[in-house]
Amino acid sequence: MNEIIEELQQKLTNTGFKSSVVSVRRLPDIRRDFENLIKEGILNKDFYDEIVSRYELRWNFEPAVSSPSAESVIITAVQQPKVSLEFENAGKKYYAVIPPTYIHETDQEVLDVMSPFLEKHGYKACAAVLPSKLLAVRSGLAQYGRNNITYIEDWGSYYRLRAFFSDMPCADDKWQEPVAMELCRKCTTCIKKCPTRAISQDRFLVNAGKCLTFFNEASYDFPEWLDPGWHNCIIGCMICQDVCPANKDHTAWIMPGGDFSEKETSMILDGVSKDKLPAEISEKLQKVNMLESYDLLQRNLGALIRKKQRSAGKGKKKK
Ligand code: SF4
Ligand code: SF4
Repeated sequence: MNEIIEELQQKLTNTGFKSSVVSVRRLPDIRRDFENLIKEGILNKDFYDEIVSRYELRWNFEPAVSSPSAESVIITAVQQPKVSLEFENAGKKYYAVIPPTYIHETDQEVLDVMSPFLEKHGYKACAAVLPSKLLAVRSGLAQYGRNNITYIEDWGSYYRLRAFFSDMPCADDKWQEPVAMELCRKCTTCIKKCPTRAISQDRFLVNAGKCLTFFNEASYDFPEWLDPGWHNCIIGCMICQDVCPANKDHTAWIMPGGDFSEKETSMILDGVSKDKLPAEISEKLQKVNMLESYDLLQRNLGALIRKKQRSAGKGKKKK
């Protein structure tokens, strides 16, 4: 590992980020990993294509035209909590969680740390759209859990990953077969707790076509088989992470993200279009990066509120 990379990583560590750096020569391996999953029938090709198109992924594993002539990929991780939003509806308060990976303010922060340092050495970095979980695991930064979530020592899964292309050379890197957490050997908690049975015993790749996240990140109607009562976050799902022993020191880490009054909540639930939202609501949503997912909030928040109303109703009946 060359001195500049070591210095860069030290700088990132000093600022609270963890990182790994690999050569772009590794990207064909990543592409092959995906192709093998499709060939072996573990990943459905149509599903893979839908993911690529839904998230506008350019997983051609090559830098965008505006990127520097890439020599390396820098993978960074920053610790992040869950964020809780409070909504008032019919005189009651409802809390909705955003999982740790969704807030992306820190992407710019990491670039702000790296760019001046790289520029001093004549290099640049720019954001890359790459499968960052797989890169983190292959480069030794993280390990897979059985739920296909990645974990970092001492951080559990409470962090956000990001990948960057750079023209900084990387002659010597760490590159390994994907590694699973030791804890998973004797644990099946997430398999038992996943409401959709998306996690299986025999492989470390969830059936993403059954995972709640896949459906509540999409704008179309939930499929009939999906019980809206399974929803537990305003977007995504935290069940398999919250029950995971690797997260036992982190699950209580929740930061308040904003309050929405009765009137503001009604506007979201009534589906007032994004361009007609009062500035205060837009700003609050923007602060937690939920304005970009606004089209999903009416359905997802409605499902969460109805779920909580149902369970409150059941509680009363029992008494
Ligand atoms: S719940 Fe258990 S099996 Fe699942 S990822 Fe965590 S340690 Fe592994
Ligand atoms: S995120 Fe939720 S639905 Fe998806 S595998 Fe984990 S528990 Fe199951």
